[in-house]
Amino acid sequence: MEQRASESARTVGLFTVTPQFHRIALIGIGLIGSSIAHDIKRLGLAHEAIIATRSAQTLKRAEDLKLGDRYTASAAEAVKDADLVIVSVPVGASANVAMQIAGNLKPGAIITDVGSVKASVIAQMQPHMPAHVHFIPGHPLAGTEKSGPDAGFPGLFQGRWCIFTPIERTDPAALKRLRIFWETLGAKVIEMDPEHHDKVLAIVSHLPHIIAYNIVGTADDLEMVTESEVIKYSASGFRDFTRLAASDPTMWRDVCLHNRKAILEMLARFTEDLARLQRAIRWGESEKIFELFTRTRAIRRSIIQAGQEVDAADFGRQYSAEQNKV
Ligand code: NAP
Repeated sequence: MEQRASESARTVGLFTVTPQFHRIALIGIGLIGSSIAHDIKRLGLAHEAIIATRSAQTLKRAEDLKLGDRYTASAAEAVKDADLVIVSVPVGASANVAMQIAGNLKPGAIITDVGSVKASVIAQMQPHMPAHVHFIPGHPLAGTEKSGPDAGFPGLFQGRWCIFTPIERTDPAALKRLRIFWETLGAKVIEMDPEHHDKVLAIVSHLPHIIAYNIVGTADDLEMVTESEVIKYSASGFRDFTRLAASDPTMWRDVCLHNRKAILEMLARFTEDLARLQRAIRWGESEKIFELFTRTRAIRRSIIQAGQEVDAADFGRQYSAEQNKV
């Protein structure tokens, strides 16, 4: 028994740790996949991490960055004998990936994802999952506007929420194992119904990105504001929108198309509220304007108090694992 324990132990820095998983397969190695890879390595969470991504260029970069132990262009190959599979691809690619890996999944394996939309990912992946695996959809609420394997960094998930949207009859032991994995990465795990997740994320994440893409597009279209003026004066509020609007176009196109219902519902609410504000400005309703701006200021204070943002002037927004900017 003692011998088995020492055989399974792994040295990480000065410490000896027992990995939580024998083999972890990472399908997709962009910002999220590579951040998970950094943490698996840093914390010694697997005996072996296999990385799969479709393009030779990204695979080579992952290898150059030493993000895993083995590398393959085949997702089906990567999942063989893996006891944890983490799918980190744009949500629109979920069904295709599920089809590719389904036949090679090991009995008892945990399959999870990190997609920003949950009902659609479940609809795309669940039908392909064999009965002998545990499919647990997930979404870590952490990220930046960068993409690709170079964008990831250790500690991205520290202090951030990770939402599970388990399907009915999910094995509690598998759920607990995955929860421990994310908690080891520093995340706070919470469970939610997938439709509820999609509504909440539509307002807190998807709508702000859509507004940012739209406002930056509008500024770009305005003939009276030249491109150089947009750049020169961008410190005055516009800058924060450009950061969001620089996010990965494939990822955000897929989010829009796969969370269509909740996004349209939130956009309708937003448009109504904007019309109300427009009217208040037109008619000089100063109290209404002041009341709204006071209420919104308090919300930012609550976010800072909840540890989800730091109260610092951040021109240039430096990333750090402690501050964990999103
Ligand atoms: P990313 O940096 O752009 O990386 C995407 C990865 O998926 C790459 O390995 C890419 O492979 C692969 N990929 C792209 N299109 C594919 C396709 N059609 N089929 C198979 N593989 C494909 O993306 P990311 O930011 O890590 O996002 C990954 C997932 O995490 C998305 O579902 C997103 O919604 C979710 N998420 C993102 C954030 C964020 O802030 N970015 C936060 C939370 C969750 P190649 O490079 O080889 O083409």
